[in-house]
Amino acid sequence: MLKRTCYSNNLKDGEEVVLAGWVHERRDLGGIKFILLRDRGGIAQITAPKKKVSEEIFKLMDSLGREWVIAVKGNTKASLQAPSGLEVIPSEIEIISMAEPSLPLDPSEKVDADIDTRLDNRFMDIRKPRVTAIFKIRSEILRAAREYLLSQAFVEIQTPKISASGTEGGTELFPLSYFEREAFLAQSPQLYKQTMMATGMDRVFEMAHYFRAEESNTRRHLSESDAVDIEMSFIESEDDVIYILENLVSHILKCVNDNKKNELALLGVEVNTPSTPFRRVKYEEAISLLQESGFNVHHGEDLGTESEKALGNIVKEKYGDDLYFLTKYPLSTKPFYTNFDGETARAFDLDYKGVEISSGGQRIHNVEILKTRIKEKGLPVSSFEAYLKPFRYGMPPHGGFGLGIDRLIMQMLNLENIREGVLFPHDRRRLEP
Ligand code: ATP
Ligand code: MG
Repeated sequence: MLKRTCYSNNLKDGEEVVLAGWVHERRDLGGIKFILLRDRGGIAQITAPKKKVSEEIFKLMDSLGREWVIAVKGNTKASLQAPSGLEVIPSEIEIISMAEPSLPLDPSEKVDADIDTRLDNRFMDIRKPRVTAIFKIRSEILRAAREYLLSQAFVEIQTPKISASGTEGGTELFPLSYFEREAFLAQSPQLYKQTMMATGMDRVFEMAHYFRAEESNTRRHLSESDAVDIEMSFIESEDDVIYILENLVSHILKCVNDNKKNELALLGVEVNTPSTPFRRVKYEEAISLLQESGFNVHHGEDLGTESEKALGNIVKEKYGDDLYFLTKYPLSTKPFYTNFDGETARAFDLDYKGVEISSGGQRIHNVEILKTRIKEKGLPVSSFEAYLKPFRYGMPPHGGFGLGIDRLIMQMLNLENIREGVLFPHDRRRLEP
C-alpha cells in the first residue's frame, strides 16, 4: 500500500506526495478529469489532464466511485482553480477499499439529511468536514478544561460508574443486575467526590460519562452524557466555586477561539470570549424579569425550559451577556446536600444562551444537618450510611459543580440539538449505533 506522506491541508508547491482518503466528488470535463479527495485535513484536488498522465491513470479516474478509499501519489502544482490553491497531478492511484454505489447519506452535503438519518449512519455523517470540526472542537474543550484545572492544583480522579445507590434517590436511575443484587449506573459523581473531601486531597476533578433515565425526548437531554465535575475544600462560600467555574469556562472559550479558528470558520460560528467575573442574576430578579415580560412564573418554583430560554433572551438584551450565573435559589429547588442560609440555597446554575450548562454550590458538611435534610426530602437515611460515614470523622467545608460538556458545546456552537455534538448519542428511543 502507498504510504501517506501528508494531509491535504499541508501540501506545498512542487513536491511529490502521497495522499490517502475518500473520494468526495468526481468531475469529468472530457480531456481533464478531477477527483476531490477528502482526508482529515480537508479536501485536495487531484487533476488528471489527458496529456499529462498515463493512459492507465486516466482510465482509472473513471472507475472510482464516491466514498471509495484511495491513495494517490503525485506532484503538487499551483492552480488558481483548486480550492487550496494547489492541485496534485497523479502518477499512481491505489484503490484501498470500495463503497457500495447507493450511499445512505451524502458526505458532500449537496443533499440534506434529517437528524435521524444522520445518526443512523453516523460513521458517514462524521465524514462531513463540518461534523468533524465539531469533534475537533470538543477535543479542544476537554484539553483546555484539564489544562485549567491542573493549573489550579486540582487532582484528576476516577470514581465508580456502578454503585449500590443513587445520588439523589430514586428518579432517573438506570438499574442493572449486579450478580445477586440490584445496582445502578452513576448519575453523577456527587457522593464520591464529596467523600474525597474527607481524604485531605482538597481539590479534585473528574471528566467522565454519566447515565440518566430521562423519560422525555428533548433537544438537551441524553441518557448518556459527559461532564466535568469538581469538588474543593476549605471554601468560605459558593463564591469560591463560582470563581473556578467562570474562569474554567472562560479559559475553554478562549482556547477554542485561539486554537480552532479553521473549525469555527467552517461552522460559521463566532465564539464570544466573556470577561470574568460573569454576571450574577439572583433568582428573585430572574423571576421578576420573567414576570415583567409576561411569563407565568412564581417565586419558589424551579425554572422550566421555556422560562430559562426566555431569561436568556432578556439577559442578552438587557446586559449583552451570553453567560450568567443564577444565584440564591430557594432551598426547596435544590438537592438534599445543598448548604443554605435560611430558605436560600448556597447554590447556583450557570446558564449559556438560555440553557443550563452547570449546577453547583456549597455542600452541607455537618453530619447532623445533613441527616435532617435527607429526612426532610423524604429520603431514607439508612440508604445513605456509606455516604454519611466520612462526614463523621472530620469533614471540611466544601463545594463543587458539574458542568455538562454536551450542553456546553451545543450552546457554544449554536447547535439545534444536543445530539449533534455527541458522537453516538443515546436517548429513550435511540440505543444504536
Ligand atoms: P436539567 O434541569 O437541565 O435537566 P439538571 O439540573 O437535572 O439538568 P444537574 O444534575 O444539575 O442537571 O447536572 C449538571 C449538568 O449536567 C447540567 O447542568 C447539564 O449541563 C448536564 N446534564 C444533566 N442532565 C443531562 C442530560 N440528561 N443530558 C445531557 N446533559 C445533562
Ligand atoms: Mg442542575
